[in-house]
Amino acid sequence: MSTALRSPANFKRDAAEAVTKPSLKIALDRTTGLLQRRRVDVLKAYPEFEATREVAKNIKDHTLAHLDHYLAEFEKNATAAGAVVHWAETPEQACKIVIDLCRQADAKSVTRVKSMLGEEIGLPKALAAAGIERVETDLAEHIIQLADEPPSHIVIPAMHKTREEVADLFAHHHKEPKIDGEVGTLVESARGELRPKYVAADVGISGANFLIASTGTVVTVTNEGNAELTTELPGMHIVTAGIEKVVPEPQHALVLLRLLARSALGTEFTQYTSFFTGPRREDETTGPEAMHIVLVDNGRTQMLASEMRPMLRCIRCAACINHCPVYGAIGGHPYGSTYPGPMGSVLTPALQSLEVAKDLPHACTLNGRCQEVCPVKIPLPDLIRSLRDDTWRRNLVPKPAKLAVQAWAWVAVRPSLYRLVSGLANYALRLWAGPRGMIAKLPLAGGWTQGRDFPRPTGPTFMTQYKRRQGR
Ligand code: SF4
Repeated sequence: MSTALRSPANFKRDAAEAVTKPSLKIALDRTTGLLQRRRVDVLKAYPEFEATREVAKNIKDHTLAHLDHYLAEFEKNATAAGAVVHWAETPEQACKIVIDLCRQADAKSVTRVKSMLGEEIGLPKALAAAGIERVETDLAEHIIQLADEPPSHIVIPAMHKTREEVADLFAHHHKEPKIDGEVGTLVESARGELRPKYVAADVGISGANFLIASTGTVVTVTNEGNAELTTELPGMHIVTAGIEKVVPEPQHALVLLRLLARSALGTEFTQYTSFFTGPRREDETTGPEAMHIVLVDNGRTQMLASEMRPMLRCIRCAACINHCPVYGAIGGHPYGSTYPGPMGSVLTPALQSLEVAKDLPHACTLNGRCQEVCPVKIPLPDLIRSLRDDTWRRNLVPKPAKLAVQAWAWVAVRPSLYRLVSGLANYALRLWAGPRGMIAKLPLAGGWTQGRDFPRPTGPTFMTQYKRRQGR
């Protein structure tokens, strides 16, 4: 799926296509299943998890309530450490700042560490339009860059690819591919391809997992060590970060880091956690000569003032995505945005518009697993329900669906009529099902039976059974 064709407006079409791909199902089952099991195992050894969630929620809520104060403090301390802080209200402004900085550095080639904010603001496209070579250094981002595909997951961007597909890609694109079907050899092949590019890059671009206000520090986590190579070797380090990433003190970042690794990959801690405070100092021998931090709003202050505010607590761990049955069936691409799954169904309408992303809040079974696993206790089902209400109020729901729900609501508040109608429907469905006991096509609700048969009702309605029990 090319980046150009992505849009949440095409969700239904792309989801219908995605469920028909067997290799996608294999890739998703392998990875989400593994991540779920690992999370359960790592939490068994961390009994403080529930208490830490509450602390993390409070840290984020406190910071969001005083966001202006902590952002100003971060700017003051980052500047004192020698970094330059830039402010961008829109994705276009953010990209322009980054491109201008790259031009200042006369950059022909930049290395980049995985950053969802970078994807959100369209930085890869902006770099291409400016004629600057972009080298993705995260292994999964390297894979999707070679495949010319967008990420399908916020922590494991190539989750949709099987090992076999990656081997084919490397065989085709690497100068000296090492392919024997083993994951270790594939990693070696990528390392051989990327190492010279780290050295040749003029600018290194990273995101930020957290920004520490009291020290002006940028915190990044990786499992491959690519953040260090990306930011230390070139002469300039550019950070792009959302304004909600700020926390007051280092100890607050440490609380969130404990939850992040466990929730994201089911590990106690990430392999590499880097703290960058300003560029290289006079007494240091390594590090960039210049450090620029671009703080991006892109709709976040609007969210702050709306009922979507709890979403700004998100630390991008992807636990909600890994536990979402809808994501598990279709993967990330149909969401048509940087952020898939439950968190994407809330963030995308807020960051783009509900008009364009109107189907996303409806791509949810409201089973509540996302809220149960969220380390900062974001009430995702409530936010999704609220967005559904908005689609209803703003007439973004198809007319037939709206009429059907209105008719159902009219019947549902009249108990006698409801019992009569549900009894008749029960009887009709049994007749319709015939001897096989399954209904291949439902009248007026063909969408339900498009991909599976509808089973015949097996007994009297719930109300009839309830009444009989009461009578007994
Ligand atoms: S909404 Fe919660 S579970 Fe989902 S990515 Fe954000 S922090 Fe993680």
